[in-house]
Amino acid sequence: MIQTPYYLIDKQKLRRNMEKIAYVREKSGVKALLALKCFATWSVFDFMRPYMDGTTSSSLYEVRLGRERFGGETHAYSVAYADHEIAEVIGHSDKIIFNSIGQLERFEAQSASIARGLRLNPQVSSSTFDLADPARPFSRLGEWDAAKVEAVIDRISGFMIHNNCENGDFELFDRMLGQIEERFGALLSRVEWVSLGGGIHFTGENYPIDEFCARLKAFSDRFGVQVYLEPGEASITKSTTLEVTVLDTLFNGKNLAIVDSSIEAHMLDLLIYRESAKVAPNEGAHSVLVCGKSCLAGDIFGEFRFPEALKVGDRISFQDAAGYTMVKKNWFNGVKMPAIAIRELDGSVRVVRDFDFADFEQCLS
Ligand SMILES: *Cc1c(COP(=O)(O)O)cnc(C)c1O
Repeated sequence: MIQTPYYLIDKQKLRRNMEKIAYVREKSGVKALLALKCFATWSVFDFMRPYMDGTTSSSLYEVRLGRERFGGETHAYSVAYADHEIAEVIGHSDKIIFNSIGQLERFEAQSASIARGLRLNPQVSSSTFDLADPARPFSRLGEWDAAKVEAVIDRISGFMIHNNCENGDFELFDRMLGQIEERFGALLSRVEWVSLGGGIHFTGENYPIDEFCARLKAFSDRFGVQVYLEPGEASITKSTTLEVTVLDTLFNGKNLAIVDSSIEAHMLDLLIYRESAKVAPNEGAHSVLVCGKSCLAGDIFGEFRFPEALKVGDRISFQDAAGYTMVKKNWFNGVKMPAIAIRELDGSVRVVRDFDFADFEQCLS
């Protein structure tokens, strides 16, 4: 048995998402780039590569990882580049998307050798959470003034628009795309490519994938553009678990179980968005508050149901532990960082990375 804690990536589950992405590419003509900020566990990139066109990034290190470990088309984007990194970014990318006209102008000479794009902020989004809403008031994410953008359009060949966020509602996607067409149509018809970003949950169950493909194709035909999608969460959703072991149990008015992991260190995104972890099937007569082992009082994965009372040594699998999870793990409290394991298509499991004291020590000085 592999020692917990560890993240377990299941290739069979990952393949379900990959096949849907390949279907959308085939049917609609879009290209699909993995958003590395969501998932950058490169041990499965060989497996994912045949189903996707490449990667997109948010920084120099991500664009380099995409080029070196994934290959294919490599898009560079960042909220802001520094002077000292721009040459290396351009060396690793096929396209660079600037967040502002200011950055486009600043790096105009250096970026002349590759395709350039600009991020548009359509000022509509599907997000209900301020923290993750690119269209929030005073947002720094992209240009929104069509007149200003028009003045620099001869310097770019495309746009990136990322305004969906965990959007599993096709009607909403369709409606917002309609607003974008209306507002920026004149600009869209003057470029060669448009990336519609990530945040569209088209690999989810019951998503109307054929309607989605038709909508993308219509958009592409109307403006004469190559459409890109940048799926992060949709690429890896439901492919991975975090495997943990119960270290102690207590009763203080509720049944508590403490596990060899920490929500702050190993599933930080849930803490930030105040969501509970998921346990399947979450059924049975015994309700237990499952807690992490850090000293943060609110280090709680959630309250779940189990068929039996939990006892020391029991194992728990937290579901859906791929997106915004492994990329955010940290050494808070010195909690043992989860290893990374892969379940192959034949069912065998191998550990591809383990972390030890040296890794903890070397992340500071
Ligand atoms: C975050 C982000 C993505 C990926 O978003 P998901 O919700 O994980 O699909 C894609 N493109 C851009 C520009 C992003 O900021």
